[in-house]
Amino acid sequence: MAQLPEQQQFGRDKYNSLPMQCKTCEVQKYCRGECPKNRFLTTADNEHGLNYLCAGYKRFFRHAKPYMQFMANEIAHPPANVMSRYKI
Ligand code: SF4
Repeated sequence: MAQLPEQQQFGRDKYNSLPMQCKTCEVQKYCRGECPKNRFLTTADNEHGLNYLCAGYKRFFRHAKPYMQFMANEIAHPPANVMSRYKI
């Protein structure tokens, strides 16, 4: 279903409608500007389309980033890392 042309276009439109603040955001990779229905704030540069939940998302993803990177690394290198980190 995600391969349907309509879905592909939705994804492109979703990205293209982001304000520059989102496109250059350090956590854009995780947040992606969130849902378009919540994008009704104005950025500091007076650009429309910033997500109402931006401050919360930014705070959450900054906090969670090192933990997500740790988990991704563990998944990429199972189970030796777990065994060496936790003496069972
Ligand atoms: S955290 Fe805020 S600035 Fe960054 S991508 Fe999400 S909505 Fe945009």
